[in-house]
Amino acid sequence: MIAPARYAERIGEAARLTARAGLDALLIGVGADLRYLTGYPAMALERLTMLVVPARGPAILIAPRLEVSSARACPAVASGFLDVVTWDETEDPVALLVARLGAELALPTTGIRRVAVSDRTWAIFVLRLQAALPSAIFEVASTITRQLRMAKDAEEIALLRLAAEAADRVIGQVSHGRLIGRSEAEVSREVRERLVAEGHELAEFAIVGSGPNSASPHHEASGRLIQAGEPVVLDIGGTLAGYTSDTTRTIWVGGDDPALAPDAEFVRLYGVLREAQAAACAAVQPGVTCEDLDATARRIIVAGGYGPQFFHRLGHGIGLEAHEEPYLVAGNPQPLQAGYAFSVEPGIYFEGRYGARLEDIVVCGPVGPLVLNRSPLDLQVVDGR
Ligand code: ZN
Ligand code: ZN
Ligand code: ZN
Repeated sequence: MIAPARYAERIGEAARLTARAGLDALLIGVGADLRYLTGYPAMALERLTMLVVPARGPAILIAPRLEVSSARACPAVASGFLDVVTWDETEDPVALLVARLGAELALPTTGIRRVAVSDRTWAIFVLRLQAALPSAIFEVASTITRQLRMAKDAEEIALLRLAAEAADRVIGQVSHGRLIGRSEAEVSREVRERLVAEGHELAEFAIVGSGPNSASPHHEASGRLIQAGEPVVLDIGGTLAGYTSDTTRTIWVGGDDPALAPDAEFVRLYGVLREAQAAACAAVQPGVTCEDLDATARRIIVAGGYGPQFFHRLGHGIGLEAHEEPYLVAGNPQPLQAGYAFSVEPGIYFEGRYGARLEDIVVCGPVGPLVLNRSPLDLQVVDGR
């Protein structure tokens, strides 16, 4: 649970950063930024819902009349930190928004010169806002919101941990269940059901890649039947109380035939991957840059002879969204700070043959890493029958 007072602090901080950046206002449409600032998980609709955070003066939440009860129920409004301004079906919400913003800033419409709009706001709203604010330069709001959202507070970390632990239980359950002779799609459905049974409100992805499909990082679970004597990549996640889980384990389905144990090349590949993943996790501490962390894992994989087979970034930030900043990728000099949460997920893939990936969610602690996932990382050879 995020304490309601936190939302007032977040909106206050967003307003301070907005003023400091020389912006007149932050305009936050439906999405993770809105949920972060207000606790409101609003539905994306053709009717405008928008949080307006002026550089000075109180923020307001613009909402259509028919959404007003859910808007009022969000923690920032329910606890009295934020007012809702509603618009009726025949009103123009953009005109209303611009009038309220101008009044708050004591500026004529043409005096509003710079605003930032949340990155995921639909073009239909952005274009109307641009027409209504002809003198304003429009920027993306992530330059402000990323500064807030990247560093998770203790309550957010607790929720990420709950989500990670639930996903871990599902990995354990599915690894120890029947796999041989079942299709990837069937196992994927089981993963989704189990994620919900373990407390997720939404099971967003359940990648099940068996045999040659394990070499395709974002493989869509197919009708292929899982066989003994091959690896299976399980990359699963969803949201729990708004916060996302995302974990990957690669298991080997052994059946009862010792001849179907992992071959020497797979054992070697997995060993290199395991070492790279562990080294990157261990290197997490404030000040280490995102690209350094990527390089830490990549060096080991390159030295192991698998450089070309690791062709994606090391990881991504995680929170209210499954993929958010910071991205652990060459070229990103962003230094880690305490509270940053992200995946560490190197992979090695031989197209047409097999592959493996290991993924944990890691929080940068004040002095070192806080690894949220606890599923075993050593190669699990499971029975699968
Ligand atoms: Zn991915
Ligand atoms: Zn994943
Ligand atoms: Zn991931």
